[in-house]
Amino acid sequence: MDEGIRYLQNSGAKITETRVAIMQSLENRYDHPSAEQLFIELKPKHPTLSIATIYSTTQLLARASLLRILSIDEKKVYFDPNLTPHGHFMCRTCKRLFDIPVDYESIFRFDTPSGISSVEAAEVFFYGLCTKCDGKRRPMAKV
Ligand SMILES: [Zn+2]
Ligand SMILES: [Zn+2]
Repeated sequence: MDEGIRYLQNSGAKITETRVAIMQSLENRYDHPSAEQLFIELKPKHPTLSIATIYSTTQLLARASLLRILSIDEKKVYFDPNLTPHGHFMCRTCKRLFDIPVDYESIFRFDTPSGISSVEAAEVFFYGLCTKCDGKRRPMAKV
């Protein structure tokens, strides 16, 4: 949070009450909220908040490597302040996100193709069904 504020200050961005609220609400969260979800949560207390502010603030934080913006879905982006390396799973029915442990060391174990100078980051996305949605899909067992 302090780091975030410092970064915003250094990058010349204004520290507004809504920006601080966005950072506060993202801190220590593991539920990967979307921009829309943050908006719904924060709007009642911060009437001047706009979706654009959420995007601009989170982009600044991501540029400072303080936040991951997950483009796991083509319609929505999700935010993850948890910077420890991990991949993500999205249920294709309910769109819930789950953290998945990923062995990044093995992912990066390849001969760098010519033309690529340095590989700096990777996001790993998995798709499928969560247990809840899979349960709903199966017909009830006949007794
Ligand atoms: Zn699901
Ligand atoms: Zn995550």
